[in-house]
Amino acid sequence: MAKRIHPKYIFVVGGVMSSVGKGVTAASIGRILQSKGLRVTAVKADPYINVDAGTMNPTEHGEVFVTEDRDETDQDIGNYERFLNANIYSVNYMTTGRVYDTVIRKERNLEYKGACVEVVPHIPEEIISRIQAAQRESKADVTIIEVGGTVGEYQNILFLEAARMMRTRYPDDVCFMLVSYLPIPERVGEMKTKPTQSAARTLNAAGIQTDFIIARAAHALDRKRQEKLAIFCGIPTDHAISAPDIDMIYKLPQVLEKQQLGDKLLKQLKLKPRRTQMQNWNTMVARAVHSTRELRIAVVGKYFGTGDYTLSDSYISVIEALKHAAWAQHRKPVLTWIDSEAYEKHPSKAVELKRYDGVIVPGGFGTRGVEGIIKAIQYVRKQKIPYLGLCYGMQLAMIEIARHEAGLKQANTVEMAPYAKHPIIHINPKQSENIKLNRYGGTMRLGAFRCKLKPGTKAYQAYGRNEISERHRHRYEFNNNYRVALEKAGVVFSGMNPDQDLVEIAEYKPHPWFVGTQFHPEFKSRPLEPHPLYLAFVKACIKASK
Ligand code: GLN
Repeated sequence: MAKRIHPKYIFVVGGVMSSVGKGVTAASIGRILQSKGLRVTAVKADPYINVDAGTMNPTEHGEVFVTEDRDETDQDIGNYERFLNANIYSVNYMTTGRVYDTVIRKERNLEYKGACVEVVPHIPEEIISRIQAAQRESKADVTIIEVGGTVGEYQNILFLEAARMMRTRYPDDVCFMLVSYLPIPERVGEMKTKPTQSAARTLNAAGIQTDFIIARAAHALDRKRQEKLAIFCGIPTDHAISAPDIDMIYKLPQVLEKQQLGDKLLKQLKLKPRRTQMQNWNTMVARAVHSTRELRIAVVGKYFGTGDYTLSDSYISVIEALKHAAWAQHRKPVLTWIDSEAYEKHPSKAVELKRYDGVIVPGGFGTRGVEGIIKAIQYVRKQKIPYLGLCYGMQLAMIEIARHEAGLKQANTVEMAPYAKHPIIHINPKQSENIKLNRYGGTMRLGAFRCKLKPGTKAYQAYGRNEISERHRHRYEFNNNYRVALEKAGVVFSGMNPDQDLVEIAEYKPHPWFVGTQFHPEFKSRPLEPHPLYLAFVKACIKASK
């Protein structure tokens, strides 16, 4: 057993601009320290007022990542789970809204004992106590705190103030890392350090001297610029770490470890250097790199003309889960996003789905594009193309089968048609009330629920167990009044929630692999532990492609 150490904290802040990969950097540092035998956890502090990410539009903000314990969080929590190969809980996630909410509630409860409650110090103190609660909860040796946003904006200043206060309180146990962007203007053709110098100074204005700079850029940092950053930003030269663009995020721990970032961090935090053991991570990356045979998957949904960037952010866990499973089978997943609205106008276009090894309908909300999705499902079901329906993808599959195989032509979800003649997918009274009263925040069926599997089914085969637990995020459910009708039409309800008698997994028996889940298996997929259902889907796709 390693000797207990005083808790250490690494703050990761962003410079120059957003989207430079702060989350993946924080997660990669975690992976490195973990591989040195330390207990690591990661915290995300987001500047927005929303109490959670559940009420934000995923096409603008990215995926809503659901934790085991029912929290609707930022997609970075998903990165932490995937890199650390561990569950991250609600205690590790905060927003400005959540912090203020607690402080105001405490004030109302007289918990400040008559004091005048002020923005400073009470808000940073609440932030600190949340960081420490996350540390305690996972007994972490090292807690990595990613501060959302970029230095210099007003929004995250109280998180930086909390960080500054922590450094003053625990000078040997807190360190800072500025993940910054170094542009290479086309006209000039060389990497510019000035914006990063400016970011480091802005951080100085908040009372914080960074210890490390992660230099994100299209190319590697050269010696000259490394020295420049060191001089102008006040760090040792070897603390300017190069992080050039990479084609796969899972390579980042290796890129950073090549520069001994792990040991440099330990030294900074007054810990002894330790041997790094990244064998299984390296094996996973090598397998991914060598997986060149393509697996073509179509993802059908209602998509805006926002381009791949936003889409890949909105469905990041699905995409990553597919990668994990495909790599495990030595395949390279190639995803094509198909806008279902096209099938509404031209149903015959669905034949294009024949070109794919498998089709996924991911989670979704609302009415747009839904009839097009149903057309796509009908086609893949009839053509025996492997199908994985995730949440909405399962609900719509049941509607499709009800309409075309059970004679229930007017089958629908009440999300689409509140007074549907055959509400195959319905809503429980508690949820109807939530909607009626505009209680949208955090009121869906959220987080982990138990599910009993039926032996002899595809699901059972995939998991190889009687009981599983998976994460949910939905309001509507399969209507049990239609179970018999759908069973007669060829459906097998292979996964049921034993506590509430709810359908969690449904399959179409006369098909080689047609599975829909009410939950989101992707939230539990990890690069080192691909998800069993995704694995089974990928195997079915490979088989179908032969
Ligand atoms: N809109 C559906 C529901 O709320 C499905 C949700 C989802 O796909 N996550 O039940």
